This record gives sequence, C-alpha cells and structure tokens, in this order.
Amino acid sequence: MIPTVYLVGAGPGDFELMTLKGKRCIQQADVLIYDRLASDAFLQLAKPGCRLIYAGKQAGNHAIPQEELNQLIAREALAGHRVVRLKGGDPYVFGRGGEEALCLRQYGVPFEVVPGVTSAIAGLCYAGIPITQRDYAASFHVITGHAKEGVEREPDWQLLARQEGTLVFLMGLGHLDQIAGGLLAAGKDPATPAAVISNASLYNQQVRTAPLGEIAREVTQNPVPSPAIIVVGQVVSLREQLSFFERRPLFGKTVGVTRGRGQNQQLLEQLESLGARGVSMPMISIVPQPAPELEGKLKHLGDYSWLVLTSQNAAQIFFERLFASGRDSRALGGVKICAIGAATAGELEKRGLTPDCVPPAFSSQGIWQVLGPMLTSQDRVLLPRGKKTVSRLAQRMGEICPVDEVILYETQPEKQANREGLALLAEGKLDYLTVSSPSILTSLWNQLENPGAVLSSTRLVTIGPVTTQAVLDAGLPQPLEAHVSTQEGMVQAILEDCKRQSQQ
Ligand code: SAH
Repeated sequence: MIPTVYLVGAGPGDFELMTLKGKRCIQQADVLIYDRLASDAFLQLAKPGCRLIYAGKQAGNHAIPQEELNQLIAREALAGHRVVRLKGGDPYVFGRGGEEALCLRQYGVPFEVVPGVTSAIAGLCYAGIPITQRDYAASFHVITGHAKEGVEREPDWQLLARQEGTLVFLMGLGHLDQIAGGLLAAGKDPATPAAVISNASLYNQQVRTAPLGEIAREVTQNPVPSPAIIVVGQVVSLREQLSFFERRPLFGKTVGVTRGRGQNQQLLEQLESLGARGVSMPMISIVPQPAPELEGKLKHLGDYSWLVLTSQNAAQIFFERLFASGRDSRALGGVKICAIGAATAGELEKRGLTPDCVPPAFSSQGIWQVLGPMLTSQDRVLLPRGKKTVSRLAQRMGEICPVDEVILYETQPEKQANREGLALLAEGKLDYLTVSSPSILTSLWNQLENPGAVLSSTRLVTIGPVTTQAVLDAGLPQPLEAHVSTQEGMVQAILEDCKRQSQQ
C-alpha cells in the first residue's frame, strides 16, 4: 500500500501555533519536505533518520521548481516512504498546496491535508488587529500582493476599494507602493487605517501603522523585513487597545541560556512566554561517573541518617543508580533527605519523596546553616555529588559525624557550543546572559576570543552569591543576581531590571 502523504500547515511562525495533528504527522514521517520555516523546532520533531529535504528559496539559490517538487513528493511516497510536506501557515492559502495535492491525485498517491493557522488571520491577531469586528468589518479579503506587472493580472482595485471588509495582502511588501496606490486611485479613502506586520508571532515581530495615504512612505522611512502582511481597514485602529504580543514584559529582549544540554528547556520556555527571544547555548555538559563504590553504599542505605543532595544532577543520577541496582525509593525508608533547593526537591517529589529539609538559601552554605546544628556524632551522611563541587560542606559535616562522599558526575565544558549563540554574545546582541554556576562562567570565558570585554558589556544574571563571586573574581562588573537561587529567580531578576529600565 502506498503510504498517505500529509500536506501539513506549520502555522504563521510561532512553533506552538502548529496543530497537534501536524505535529504527530511530522513525528511519524520518513521524509520531511519543508519550505523556509521560522524555527528549527519543527524539524527537531522529526524522528532520528527522517530525511529532511529543503524545498524553499535560499539567498542566491532558486527553489526546487514546483513541477519537480510535485514529482519528488509523489516519487518518495511511491517508494514506500511516509512523506510530510510542511508549509508555512495553511497549505491552501497561497501555498500551492492545491497543485501538490492534484499532482498526488494524478499519480494515485493518497494524501491528507492538515490545515494550518494562516498568517492572514493570525498575523493580524498577533498585531492586535481582529480581522472582523462588528461595526468595523463584516468580511475580509485575502489577496496576493505578488501579481507581477504585465505578467499576471492585477487585482481589481475598483472592486477592492469598494469593500468595507478588511483587506489583507500577502506577499505584497515589495509592492506596497503599487498596492496602496492602486487602492487610492480607485477611490479608497486615504484616511483608512493601514498596517504592515513583519515576522508576525515571532520574537522579532514589527508593526508599522499609518493611514493608507501614508503607509508606503512610513514603511520606506522605517523599513521592515519580509515576510510581511499588509492590512487595510478600520479594524487596524483597534490595535492600540488590543495588542498583547508586543506588550509582554520581555518582548524585544534576547536572553542567552547557558546551562547544560537538555537542561535549558524550562528556562527558555519561561523567558519565551514572557516575550523574550531565548537563545539556548549550553556551556557545560554533565558526564556521569562510574562510582563503583556506590553499590556497597546502596546496599547499606539504612545505615545512613541523612542523604544530602547538593544539586539536581546529583539527585537525578543518584536515583538512576538506585533504581538500576534493582532497588526503589523504599530503600531510603528511614533516611532523612536534605535537598539544596527547589529544583532538587522537585526531583525527589517526582519520585514520591518529600525532602525533610530544604534550606531557605539554596546553597551549600545554606545547607550547613540548617543541617549543622542538627547533626550529632551519631549521624552518618551520604553525600553524592559532582566532581568539582566544593567539598567545604563535607569537611564541616565530617567534623561532626562520618560523611561518605561519592562522585557521581563531572561537569565538563560543552564541546559543541552553539556558535550562533556565541556570535550573538560577541556582537553584543544579547540583552541578558544567565549564568547558573561558576563552571559555566569558566566555560564561557574559555570559548570567547575576548572574554573580558564581551562579558563586561553584557548584562550577566547569576543564580546566586557563589556565581556572583566568580563573576566578580573574574574582574567583571556586578551582575544581576536572583533573590531566590532558582531558574525562576533569574527570570524574576531580569523582569525587575527591565521594569527599572523602562521607568528610567
Ligand atoms: N500559506 C501561508 C502564506 C504563504 S504566502 C499562510 O497561510 O500563512 C507567504 C506570505 O505569507 C508572505 O509573503 C507574507 O505575506 C505572509 N506571511 C507568512 N508568515 C508570515 C509572518 N510570520 N509574518 C508576516 N507575514 C507572513
């Protein structure tokens, strides 16, 4: 049987605006044929081994001609591959989805179309412009602004100018002059509100508004990049009240996130939901260590009165090893647990355990302050930790009772650092750079050509006093510091700084 080809709409830009169905199709695809997309995230959904074929235009290169592309899709399906053809917005809105579907039909290849959120509607929405509104517009018209002079038929300006509904032009940025001119010449009121929306739903969204009579001049004076939508109609005037996307507190800010690979996601999502562009640039990687001596300790876990977990990584790896040894959380039955902070406590809670103690200050100093007075010579502490973790805590506790340390992981500088992120940093294009440990700072320092200058001119945000001290020891200016030593604490510090700046 020939596998079904899915023509999938990716939505206007923001990855989260694609449909659940589209996502599932991509996850199951053997071949993914895609156009220029706003984000790599779509491609990252593909399973390992999925063939990615770029079909869009690239600077200097022509796109695969449509005829060839149609055949390519059919050929891949006929060869037994599950093909997804991924297109921006909705496949049937100026996306040539219909041509591709017709071709598949000719070849007898089954297909389904997964509609997408079209930029023609969502782009306006993200600019604060409802495409219809009672008393303003009772219809809307989506028009291609691409008609080449003399080659394709120009739109019927008379007809369009007479409409009271919202006029939406796609692919028209390069012809803004002719579009506005055409409407005006056909008698459209030059005072009609108009807007040009660039990169809608993305971190770099920009909107220009002006009356129709002035919009072309406005955009010439303050240009915006493509892709862009042109909107003409009374509904544009609602933007002032209804814009929400650009009003988010971190809109327009770019923030570098430097934790280990696989650990940045939560922080990135938080930043992005507040409007920032988050740039993932892992600077360290966590390399688990063999620790053969752990097995003996796991066997006698009941001999310990305290398990002290000084990092989320230590907690994760400790439980991996505990479970791999054939045991489960019950082995910790009588053992009290101290977690350094909220994230580490979260790891415990995931496994049905509530820590007995979490210090108010999320640091090893904080642990000492809380645990120190409680310990007696009768206690025995198990301290699984990272190789470079300062062992001052172990030493202090060791003066009171036996402390068994086990090194479970090592923090190494990331070997495949995100070059693009480092370039943004070097060019001064990051507004903030989060630094959540001294080892991240060291790794950053070593990866930059001119670290002192670069890091001095970027606003660093540290997770707490230990990292702040490392920043100061490196001769860098005072960073912002999280009040509470968590990822959210760093986000909070950035929010407060933005607020301060906007008040100045
Ligand atoms: N099928 C797509 C449209 C393809 S035509 C859809 O349904 O959205 C390409 C045009 O869409 C661009 O020239 C631009 O006018 C518009 N467009 C697509 N994404 C956009 C975005 N994020 N911001 C602004 N315009 C966008």
